[in-house]
Amino acid sequence: MGTRKGLKLRSVLIFLVTISVLLTAVIGGYFAWGMNRTSLTNGYLESNYQYAKKLTSNTSELLQIMHTNIEDIAGITAKQTISQKDLNIWFQASEHYFNAILIVNHERVVTAVSSRNQLPVVGTVLNSLASYQAVQQQKPLISQPYLGPTSKRLLVMISSPTFDSNGEYTGFVAGTIYLSDDNALNKLLSEHFYGNGSYVYVADKNGHLIFHPDKSRIYETVTTNAVINKAISGRSGAQQIMNSQEINFFAGYAYEPLTGWAIIAQTPASIIDEPLKQFIWKLIFRAIPVFIIILLIAWYVSYLLSKPLFELAAFSEEAILTPKPNRHKRPRINSYIYEVRQLNQSINNHFSLLNKEIRMDGLTGLANRKTFDWTITEWLADDIPFALILLDIDHFKSINDRYGHLTGDEVLLYTASKIRQYSRGQDFCFRYGGEEFGILVKYGTIPIALQMAERLREAVAAEASPTGSHVCISIGISRSDGKAEDAKEIIAMADKALYQSKEAGRNRTTIYEDNKKGQ
Ligand code: GH3
Ligand code: MG
Ligand code: MG
Repeated sequence: MGTRKGLKLRSVLIFLVTISVLLTAVIGGYFAWGMNRTSLTNGYLESNYQYAKKLTSNTSELLQIMHTNIEDIAGITAKQTISQKDLNIWFQASEHYFNAILIVNHERVVTAVSSRNQLPVVGTVLNSLASYQAVQQQKPLISQPYLGPTSKRLLVMISSPTFDSNGEYTGFVAGTIYLSDDNALNKLLSEHFYGNGSYVYVADKNGHLIFHPDKSRIYETVTTNAVINKAISGRSGAQQIMNSQEINFFAGYAYEPLTGWAIIAQTPASIIDEPLKQFIWKLIFRAIPVFIIILLIAWYVSYLLSKPLFELAAFSEEAILTPKPNRHKRPRINSYIYEVRQLNQSINNHFSLLNKEIRMDGLTGLANRKTFDWTITEWLADDIPFALILLDIDHFKSINDRYGHLTGDEVLLYTASKIRQYSRGQDFCFRYGGEEFGILVKYGTIPIALQMAERLREAVAAEASPTGSHVCISIGISRSDGKAEDAKEIIAMADKALYQSKEAGRNRTTIYEDNKKGQ
């Protein structure tokens, strides 16, 4: 099982931005779609309402004209008896309005008739509700549609009372209209196919369908239709409705005051599906480039934001996994983000401190044994020739014993400072452990190392140490000539030479190669 490292900040940021942009687009698109839908819906409702209103006023106008025609004939009957010929002329003039024009007496007996099919014949007693109402009310009437006694077709009777020269009621003149026949009213109310599924239908004031594109539904009573109910109760307006086949419609409705009819113009609600679909596609096509640009910007900003953090994280990870101190690979962080700058600063400080702790000897500040090991290995690997000086303070234990460990520490510090003083900048000074120290003399030959060692030894032997008197040191020197050699071997050689110095009486330098002794 590998270590669970967690999600990368960049991926999280891009994911968040993508989700936000997508959600914003979806929500925005949804609202835009909703607004578009509302506006299309309102448009269709309004236009159907206007259409129903216009149709209603046209119907009123037509009925008015038809009524005037009948009234004109009724007016003449008061002054003279109308001959069949005259009646035929009247009828021909208004044939596109009426199927028949009748003159009826006060007992509802047809006294004269002019019609397309010569019905009803003269002498017929009319039994329709309309004729009863005409006689009873003795005033101009437009009847509700009713089924003709012989034709069994829907007809409407427009009547006007007649009076004799003395003002006595004599009957009425009536014009009848078959609603399904080819006449002006039928033309006005039936022919409304737009090709987009819209249609018009009319119901009388009792809720009977009197005009409908589906002829089989004529005279069907529709009481559940909300708009018919509203219109026959005298209201006009528009609303969305569902028909008996559960299809949604945008319906405009209006009330015709002369007849009390409801005139409804309606369009299937599915009419807006296609424009809405097109709108969504347009929105998507327009949004995609913007979406890509936003994503690219987000990606770039995420990259800028996360890069320094990523580098710091990678550096920290490597630093933890590598045993060596990271001296050269520390990332250069250039970020304007406060948190990143602070983090970088604090990681840098911590690493400097840690590096120092790892590399340096806590007491003397010289490099420690570990760093010495890395350095000698590195120099050998890089074929850098060097000499190794190892030195050990003579009888240091007795210094501790006599002056105490604190003074012993001071002597160690003093020795370290002397080592620094007598080495060159390019050399590598270290504390090997206890009271043993060393110098890696870079590019150092034996004579150079010997000269350096002797100067150092003579200096400490001559000067007063923190104990008040001088200290002596024994030294061993070995050398690597730049060819691949083993670090341990070189150290062992210097150590052996050092041992020889001790053996030979201390306070002296021994070179390993030829076992030559210094003083
Ligand atoms: P020789 O001449 O053979 O080198 O004898 P020596 O007494 O110097 O060597 P020995 O190895 O007998 O004693 C070294 C002493 O150094 C023993 C130890 O207590 C002391 N020492 C090691 N590290 C420290 C340190 O950090 N501070 C002090 N004060 N003493 C230390
Ligand atoms: Mg020792
Ligand atoms: Mg010693």
